Amino acid sequence: MTLGVFERGTGHEQVVFCHDPDSGLEAIVGLYSTALGPGLGGTRFYPYGTEDAAITDVLNLSKGMAYKNALAGIPHGGGKAVIIGDPSTDKSDALLRAYGHFVDSLGGRYITACDMGTAVPDMDIIAGVTRHVTSKSPALGGGGDPSVLTAYGVFRGMLACAEHRWGSASLAGKRVGIAGVGKVGHLLLEHVLDSGGSVVVTDVRQEAIDKVRTAHPEVDVVADTDALIGADLDVFAPCALGGVLNDVTVPVLRAPVVCGAANNQLDHDGLDAELAARGILYAPDYLVNAGGVINVADELHGYSFERARARADRIFGTTKQVLEHAASEGIPPASAADRIAEQRMRDAASRKGSAAEPAG
Ligand code: NAD
Repeated sequence: MTLGVFERGTGHEQVVFCHDPDSGLEAIVGLYSTALGPGLGGTRFYPYGTEDAAITDVLNLSKGMAYKNALAGIPHGGGKAVIIGDPSTDKSDALLRAYGHFVDSLGGRYITACDMGTAVPDMDIIAGVTRHVTSKSPALGGGGDPSVLTAYGVFRGMLACAEHRWGSASLAGKRVGIAGVGKVGHLLLEHVLDSGGSVVVTDVRQEAIDKVRTAHPEVDVVADTDALIGADLDVFAPCALGGVLNDVTVPVLRAPVVCGAANNQLDHDGLDAELAARGILYAPDYLVNAGGVINVADELHGYSFERARARADRIFGTTKQVLEHAASEGIPPASAADRIAEQRMRDAASRKGSAAEPAG
């Protein structure tokens, strides 16, 4: 027996099931909170084995976006959508347009974007039927590759970690290990080099390594992520897959700071406390990798790279605030980040509530 949406008690505001038999669309939109503004988050197109698996994913992902958006200081709540199906065989223009009509029917309570299984050209099609969509191509007012500001935001978070740990917001003379030098990892290594740090990388794709070797011969390369976990580093920056901090790696990780772009770096709850117990400073992934969502949120106001970058700058201050709160309360940074996000959502909800109260 599986639990219904209400029985799960997840605190979601709204969950919408969308079905269009003509195009084969089966989608679910999850809105965790719209206290801070319309829910913003991507659409994941994935061949879920069961409807229950799709519901679980959309509930978790939309809640995650609420926390990420609240910490990023953007005027958006948390939303996310899943389309059930195999994007390589089930995706069609008709299905995307049908999906766009459902997004439109929510009247702007949910604003969509790309996620796994969806890409910029899909958002362009959706934009043909609704204006509540981001991650469009630049020709349609989109902000281009969000990795640019994701990498910049992670770098800003890393500087805040450096200040908290070593008393100076500088990576000069520090050694940073980057696991995964794809779109974000490659740009991040350039920020680190520019600021006077040294870098060691790994990647499972030879092409990604070759690109680094050609552009930056001074960067060292190691065989795999395990080699980075055991290396003498100042900062470990996971920029590939989730789950890299797990029961095997956390006990042997040598870097005193972890700050990277990968989503869901902690394999399970409680590992943040273990990292803290080992004296390792962990910058929560959803705090420091928010540059991408900051970039797409900016599209809604007529995209300006400078404005989006200025907002991504603030990841430095928020990371400092989170680390200081964690230290003063004796809690792991992820718990401190959650508290700050929850407070921002509560404050916004009570402001909305008092604004809605009838005068007299
Ligand atoms: P990407 O696919 O461009 O790069 C990931 C890189 O990791 C690839 O080069 C891949 O070969 C490498 N990789 C995969 N498995 C590996 C392994 N086991 N060991 C070492 N390297 C491995 O992805 P990206 O856009 O750079 O995103 C990186 C991470 O950041 C992902 O977890 C993503 O969810 C997260 N993220 C990205 C953005 C963004 O704007 N791109 C925003 C927020 C979060």
